Amino acid sequence: MGKPTGFKEFDRKKVAWRLPVVRVNDYDEIYTEPRPEQLQEQGARCMDCGVPFCQSASGCPIDNLIPEWNDLVYNNRWKEASERLHQTNNFPEFTGRVCPAPCEGSCVLGITNPPVTIKNIENAIVDRAWSEGWLPPTPPLQRNGKKVAIVGSGPAGLAAADQLNSVGYDVTVYERANRIGGLLQYGIPNMKLDKGVLQRRIDKMTAEGVHFVTDANVGQNVDAKEMYEANDAMLLACGATKPRDLPIDGRELKGIYFAMEYLTANTQHKVHGDPLDSSFISAEGKDVIVIGGGDTGTDCIGTSLRHGCRSLVNFELLPQPPADRADDNPWPEWPRIFRVDYGHEEAEAKFGKDPREYQILSKEFLSDGNGNLTGIKTVQVKWTKTDEGWNMEEVAGSERDWPAQLILLAMGFLGPEQYLAKSLGIATDPRSNFEAKHGEFTTSIDGVFTAGDCRRGQSLVVWAINEGRGAARAIDTYLRGHSTLPAPGVTMGSQLVP
Ligand SMILES: Cc1cc2nc3c(=O)[nH]c(=O)nc-3n(C[C@H](O)[C@H](O)[C@H](O)COP(=O)(O)OP(=O)(O)OC[C@H]3O[C@@H](n4cnc5c(N)ncnc54)[C@H](O)[C@@H]3O)c2cc1C
Ligand code: SF4
Repeated sequence: MGKPTGFKEFDRKKVAWRLPVVRVNDYDEIYTEPRPEQLQEQGARCMDCGVPFCQSASGCPIDNLIPEWNDLVYNNRWKEASERLHQTNNFPEFTGRVCPAPCEGSCVLGITNPPVTIKNIENAIVDRAWSEGWLPPTPPLQRNGKKVAIVGSGPAGLAAADQLNSVGYDVTVYERANRIGGLLQYGIPNMKLDKGVLQRRIDKMTAEGVHFVTDANVGQNVDAKEMYEANDAMLLACGATKPRDLPIDGRELKGIYFAMEYLTANTQHKVHGDPLDSSFISAEGKDVIVIGGGDTGTDCIGTSLRHGCRSLVNFELLPQPPADRADDNPWPEWPRIFRVDYGHEEAEAKFGKDPREYQILSKEFLSDGNGNLTGIKTVQVKWTKTDEGWNMEEVAGSERDWPAQLILLAMGFLGPEQYLAKSLGIATDPRSNFEAKHGEFTTSIDGVFTAGDCRRGQSLVVWAINEGRGAARAIDTYLRGHSTLPAPGVTMGSQLVP
């Protein structure tokens, strides 16, 4: 274990983010360079509990061997820590940057003290491994002659490709966008995950023999049935890309966009330097309202600030969460508490106030009479708990008009688009996800598997990696009768994490 008395000697100390007033002027990552000694101290805080909840139950969905690498970092054995980390996680540099860290919510030290900074330690291990050259391409020694096609290049598709390639399959990943990465590329902005960090991993996978095809929209410009016939197995990892709309009066006005339209075009033009075209949506000089919270809402806030918006408000339909765990949300569940993410911090630094307004229901988009958005009418709501669940009521006389020339809809996603499922004849579940059981990942069509957000619904990068790894094992078992690939989180799969 770290240091037997470490948790008593050292306080929790997170790796700092760059100052909000500075970082809001660029698209570079928000993080500062960690000091190795600080992380060794944080590793020393790990108590190596007999039952490490951080890596099981409601903790890490990919069963990261957290106490083991905490101890190795404390003892300055970074290379071994990286080897241990890569046993369970194909892409720790992604989760180390963007994971909300359910592991920290389940850390046993968290019952009485602030938890171990697990996510920071994970990120520092893998960043060091890259900079020391400990992660060269390692192609498989033998190929087994079997071909697998993967549709979708998000973390689920990439994790499956990495696993299957490592045991000798000939893997091709098809992506309809012009760059690889799914939401790692065009959802999560550069401030949270630098696109060079993503490309470095894709380059390693390419050098190891994985084939990537972009601009390949399977079910539209690439024939899905031909792909099925030409391969020994197929994995659908298409994500949950259908956004939830807000069909109130005025929805047709110019100035209302889905978050992903805004974020994708921003990354293309501001980060990759692609030529400006009509897809780019600028927030410069505008009153911006972001409807919906979560990571997507925060990313819209951070991006609007970088464009130089005039004002910024973020509507949330639910009440502000409590500062500490409520009685019905005990450890080791994911703590449903008030958090300040990078975009909120930056908005406060720029405008002197947290941008979030709670218990706001949108009623009508307002127009200038020429088809352009000028604002939105809202009403305050009140939530009360009844025997049947939560009840929402409008507060009389609380109507309000807010000025806005740009409104971004960040209200979640409603499952995968259906054209690919239709062209292959795949069954879907009542929520329109591709139907398959976690752990099995088999669809209604023999030889076609599915994983990630298109199977489980909108989720997290770490869950997409869990599913990609699990699907790779299922495909290997289907094609060879057995598998040596690990089965992550099959028995765990807690419902308590987001
Ligand atoms: C703005 C935003 C911010 C987020 N921030 C975080 C965060 O900070 N932390 C976190 O853990 N999670 C975050 N998430 C959630 C996380 O990104 C997703 O849960 C995760 O990426 C899902 O992975 P996936 O591989 O299942 O799908 P995706 O990443 O959605 O990838 C699916 C890919 O399939 C492609 N595709 C779809 N259909 C076809 C087709 N027919 N042919 C070819 N290609 C196709 C799509 O273009 C896409 O590239 C965020 C999500 C959003 C939208
Ligand atoms: S992947 Fe997420 S849950 Fe797992 S150890 Fe890393 S931060 Fe924690």
